[in-house]
Amino acid sequence: MQKCESCGKIFSEEEAEREFADEYIMPYSNFQKKLCGKCAVNAMDNYEKGVYFMSCENCGELFDLNEEDEECLGSLLEKEDYDLINLCTTRSICLNCLFLCRKNS
Ligand SMILES: [Zn+2]
Ligand SMILES: [Zn+2]
Repeated sequence: MQKCESCGKIFSEEEAEREFADEYIMPYSNFQKKLCGKCAVNAMDNYEKGVYFMSCENCGELFDLNEEDEECLGSLLEKEDYDLINLCTTRSICLNCLFLCRKNS
């Protein structure tokens, strides 16, 4: 059992993983903090920074998914670039690489 670093609840990682998987397709194991299912989902809903890191499949760099998403999704929504929004929310590469791919295609 684990103690949630956000709400202090004692939780099982398996259960948290299941709860998180109901809402998000990204793996729960990328969380840098120990978070219960609810707090994990909340953290993603609120673009909480410094909790969720992914390594870019293209360049291998570790990036803060929420920090990048908050930055880019706002401007993409303004431009109504839904193709790129889709790419952005299902990606496993960093924004730099995403924009590079986009430019080359
Ligand atoms: Zn919690
Ligand atoms: Zn990259």
